[in-house]
Amino acid sequence: MTTPNLPFNRSSLAGRELEYINLTLEAGQIAGDQLFSKKCHKLLEDVLGTKRALVTTSCTHALEMTAILLDIQTGDEVIVPSFTFVSTANAFVLRGARPVFCDVRHDTLNLDEAKLEELISPRTKAIVVVHYAGVSCAMDEINAIAARHGIPVVEDNAHGLFGKYKGRWLGTIGALATQSFHETKNITCGEGGALLINDHRYAERAEIIREKGTNRANFFRGQVDKYSWVDVGSSYVMSDVLAAFLYAQLERWEDIQGKRRLLWNRYHSELSGWAARNGVTQPTVPSYCEQAWHMYYLLLPSLQSRQALIAHLKAHGVLAVFHYLPLHLSQYASRWGGKKGQCPVTEDVSDRLLRLSFYNTLTQDDQSRVINAVQKFSAA
Ligand SMILES: *Cc1c(COP(=O)(O)O)cnc(C)c1O
Repeated sequence: MTTPNLPFNRSSLAGRELEYINLTLEAGQIAGDQLFSKKCHKLLEDVLGTKRALVTTSCTHALEMTAILLDIQTGDEVIVPSFTFVSTANAFVLRGARPVFCDVRHDTLNLDEAKLEELISPRTKAIVVVHYAGVSCAMDEINAIAARHGIPVVEDNAHGLFGKYKGRWLGTIGALATQSFHETKNITCGEGGALLINDHRYAERAEIIREKGTNRANFFRGQVDKYSWVDVGSSYVMSDVLAAFLYAQLERWEDIQGKRRLLWNRYHSELSGWAARNGVTQPTVPSYCEQAWHMYYLLLPSLQSRQALIAHLKAHGVLAVFHYLPLHLSQYASRWGGKKGQCPVTEDVSDRLLRLSFYNTLTQDDQSRVINAVQKFSAA
């Protein structure tokens, strides 16, 4: 018998998921904004201190909501890092915007604030930042540039929930922020997300956009007699069955983050000697960050050595994966003339980055398997 390959990611129960799902079924109310959605909203608002949290069908959809809220129109420009997931850009492209790709810093792999201002034009309507791996962007610098030009900042905080920047929760620093509860994220319900509203001016319209363009939320609060179609919108409300699962995870957030912190710290310390001997770079976490322990990655010396390590680990029954391909070089972005050399750091790290198995129930023994297999590899 061969032991099965150790997965890169695996979702798991945090505690009372099944009990809570049963409660929604017994209550006979499984549409959105019922008991557990409200509990999720309250928990996020209480812990983070955001003005309003709304669970959504996905982070992608929450990003689409930000694009509608910011009135993105055809011909507008939105600055996004090139090193991110497609949705960071696509949500704005759907509204007719042109994504302007910013390169990332070589240390944190976050949007490079030193390259931001030169990308701003009179058409720039939003700056979207991603706290890669849950390590914060340089938000003071980014916010100062944005404020100088009167441009709102959106945090795509899919990696950063419960991380901090200079003591402030990630997801509460931009005007709007989005969360993902996809199964690859620290806290999950399979597919899901949230919109965090930090500027109260967006709160009322966000409820309307999320409810198919109707003022149904006002109606349920008794603020209007009947609800009607008042704006554009779509169906971004999460089912309470999923919210029940999500709440069971959210209420264990400290436990989940604690487990991930141990895993991250162990990779970091036990691989440091090997990394130094092999010219491998470990993640940088600036002192102003309390990171969100979202992933553990390594930067190999070259594309060839990265591919060789993936193959080596596979031969040892361990799955490791690369990550984002540069968005500016994607097939779709060719329409905006994306070309090689436009975001050199993104192009370089995309080739060299590798992520190791990292999930809430990764056991010490399984983590040892990963570490031992990595240490048997020579990048030279
Ligand atoms: C996962 C992720 C998304 C998309 O999340 P969904 O909930 O699957 O829509 C968007 N941006 C980033 C940076 C992500 O990591």
